[in-house]
Amino acid sequence: MFETLSRGFRQARNRLAGLTELTEQNIDSALREVRLSLLEADVEMGVVKAFLSRVKEKALGRTLEVKVKHAGETHEVSASDHFIKICHDELEAMMSHEGEEIAWAQSGPTGIMVVGLQGSGKTTSCAKLARLLQEKEGKKPLLVAADMQRPAAVEQLKVLGDQLKVPVFNIPGASPVEICAAAREQARKQGRDVIIYDTAGRLAIDEPLMKELSDIKAKTKPENIFLVVDAMIGQDAVKTARSFHERLELSGVVITKLDGDARGGAALSIKEVTGAPVLFSGVGETTDKFEPFRADGMASRILGMGDVVGLMQDFEQVVDQKKAEKDAARMLQGEFTLDDFLEQVRMIQKMGSLKDLVDKLPIGNMFPGGLPQDVNLDDRELVRIQAIIQSMTAFEKNDPYALIREPKRVERISKGSGSKPEAVTELVQKFLFMRQMMSGLGQNMGMLGKIPGMK
Ligand code: GDP
Repeated sequence: MFETLSRGFRQARNRLAGLTELTEQNIDSALREVRLSLLEADVEMGVVKAFLSRVKEKALGRTLEVKVKHAGETHEVSASDHFIKICHDELEAMMSHEGEEIAWAQSGPTGIMVVGLQGSGKTTSCAKLARLLQEKEGKKPLLVAADMQRPAAVEQLKVLGDQLKVPVFNIPGASPVEICAAAREQARKQGRDVIIYDTAGRLAIDEPLMKELSDIKAKTKPENIFLVVDAMIGQDAVKTARSFHERLELSGVVITKLDGDARGGAALSIKEVTGAPVLFSGVGETTDKFEPFRADGMASRILGMGDVVGLMQDFEQVVDQKKAEKDAARMLQGEFTLDDFLEQVRMIQKMGSLKDLVDKLPIGNMFPGGLPQDVNLDDRELVRIQAIIQSMTAFEKNDPYALIREPKRVERISKGSGSKPEAVTELVQKFLFMRQMMSGLGQNMGMLGKIPGMK
């Protein structure tokens, strides 16, 4: 399941491996892989386009490898990890829904009308839903057998109802509309609090079917209308969903046979195309193989990279809060090197500005007149700073004063990094100034009391 999709994302990730920055060019080349696999997996064309453009927009300019602690180990978060996380979030947004799967009635039994084409798994899904509600929600469902189109459907529902000890209501010889209309009274008599209507299926959508379903909807006024679609039929499932939604205003979709070798495109496209979210998925023939559709889990499965996603989630939480505070505290103690400086400049960059960072600590107003404006660096400058620092030897990083004492070193670094010698000198001076300023500030703070992360 989802192998076609996962392959595309894996290849995209491979294309970005080892890169430190997401640029228009490398994003485009990664997205080409993703595009192919989305189309191959039967994702609707418009959905593919929208997804690619959203990922591209978010990915542009994201840089790289920050170290994070995850499950006790230190990991590098690379450009490709960023890319995958952005894909994950976009996939999740495409499939997610708000609120509970089921809208409950304010008073009286809750109605769930289940519709779908023949063979989609509608009758099975009615029974699965009854089981889920009975076991997980403590509800007392009543199943209504109103699929008079498929000869065996009524019998099939009765067999399943018997297995689950859920009553099944039917009136032999009556029309589906009559049966559904009578079900509420039956539910009251039997003390049932949810009514699940298994309605007629057809091989294809036609007017008599839609008319019958509209009539049942008008008579029973169900709180929920669920469409059952078969994941195996790919884009046709999306078309089916669109037609049903236009006519009946679906509250959600149940996607079945996700356990098979369906390519998964339908699961990705349905909400984007129709506006009706997928709420449940069928993952096997037996009645226990049914679960609420979780967009987050589905996105991770599609990417086939659970760890990266978890890591990035940690990254966002840890880096933005604890790590930034700890690093800031370290800066305040004057205990940092040019490598730290580089890392912290990236952090500051991520957080907006050094001023914002300091504002997050209880010392924000300790700077008379605020921070120097030029500590707010733009992306190009960040890349330049990185190149300069990386051109330094370990000795120079350890003793930046060497660069002021020996201009030859500055020239070498200037050549190596492609920056002017003045830019190198300026960077060193800025670094030394910051270190001194932070250290002085830290000492003052030490006298005043606690700073998060400081000893
Ligand atoms: P209906 O005509 O829409 O009522 O379809 P049925 O409920 O009779 O299901 C059609 C076939 O699909 C049956 O053989 C079911 O066992 C099978 N089926 C339904 N849901 C699933 C599912 O989630 N996974 C698998 N593998 N088979 C399913």
